[in-house]
Amino acid sequence: MKKIGVLTSGGDAPGMNAAIRAVVRKAIYHDLEVYGIKYGYQGLIDGNIEKMELGSVGDIIQRGGTKLYSARCEEFKTEAGQEKGIEQLKKHGIDGLVVIGGDGSFRGAKKLTEKGYPCIGVPGTIDNDIPGTDFTIGFDTALNTIIEAIDKIRDTATSHERTYVVEVMGRDAGDLALWAGLADGAETIMVPERNEDFDDVVQRLKRGHDRGKKHSIIIVAEGVGSGFDFGQRIKEATDLETRVTVLGHTQRGGSPTAADRVLASRLGAKAVDILLAGKAGRMVGIQNNELVDHDILEVLDQGHMLDMDMYKLSQELSI
Ligand code: ADP
Repeated sequence: MKKIGVLTSGGDAPGMNAAIRAVVRKAIYHDLEVYGIKYGYQGLIDGNIEKMELGSVGDIIQRGGTKLYSARCEEFKTEAGQEKGIEQLKKHGIDGLVVIGGDGSFRGAKKLTEKGYPCIGVPGTIDNDIPGTDFTIGFDTALNTIIEAIDKIRDTATSHERTYVVEVMGRDAGDLALWAGLADGAETIMVPERNEDFDDVVQRLKRGHDRGKKHSIIIVAEGVGSGFDFGQRIKEATDLETRVTVLGHTQRGGSPTAADRVLASRLGAKAVDILLAGKAGRMVGIQNNELVDHDILEVLDQGHMLDMDMYKLSQELSI
C-alpha cells in the first residue's frame, strides 16, 4: 500500500478534524501518500480529490465540523455510483480508503470493499449509535453542549417554577438523552429504546410539585418524537407551566472536548494501522479502553443497544 484516501461522510461531528489529522499524520509517518476526498461519497464520484501534506491538517485538531466537508449522496447507494467512485480512486492510484462517518457511511465503505476496494470505517457521529464501540467521535462534545444548555435552562426554570421539556438529538438512539439526563439530574428521560408510561411521568411531576420542587426537567430524545408535542401533552395533563426547548444543531458544532480529540486521534491512527496490516471492510472502535476492529456488516447487523443499567440508575436517582 502506497497511497490512501480519507473522507468524512453523513452527519458531521466534533472531532472529525482530529480524526482526519490522525489519519494524515499517521500515514505520512509510515511513508504513505494521503489524499483528501471532499464532500464524502459525492466528492468521490466527482473526483474532488487532493493530496494532503503534514501542514494540510495543521491547526484543525481544536475545530468542530470537518475540513473535508461532508455530504449525503443518493447516487452512491447505486452500483453505478460505487463504480464511478472506484474509477476515481484508481485514477489517482489510491490503494485504500478511510471513511469517517456513521452507519450509512459504513455501509458504503463495505460496498466498496465487496467490490475489491479496501476500506476502513472510523465511527464519527454525535449519536453514539454504532455497535462495536463504546463511544463514537463527537458524542462527548455533544453531551457537554447539552449539559451546558440544560444548566442554563435549570436557572431560569427555578426562577419561574416551570417544567422544562428539552429535546435532544440522537436519531434512533437514546444515548445522548440518557447520559445528559444522568449528568444533569433530569426528572424524566424519554428514550426510544424504552416505552415510558405517560401516566407515570405525569404522576412523578405532580409528586415533585406537591413536595415543593421548584422546577422539573424532562429530556426527550428526538427518536421518541417531537418535544413540542410532548410538552403540550404534559401541560394538558398536569396544568403546570411548561416550556419546550429544542437544542437542534448546536449539538453538532463546537470545539471537540479533550476526550473526543484523544478518541479521534487513537481511532484515526488505528484505521491506518489496520489498512497497512492488509485488513479491509472493518470498522475501528474502542471497547473497555482497548482499540478494536470488527467486520462492518457483522457489527451493524447487531444493532445498537442502550445501557439499561444506566437507564435503571437514572430512574433510581430521580425518584
Ligand atoms: P451517516 O453516515 O451519518 O449514518 P447517512 O446514513 O446519511 O449518514 O449516510 C451517508 C452516506 O453514505 C449516504 O448519503 C450515502 O452516500 C452512503 N450510504 C448510505 N447507505 C448506503 C448503502 N446502503 N450503500 C451504499 N452507500 C450508502
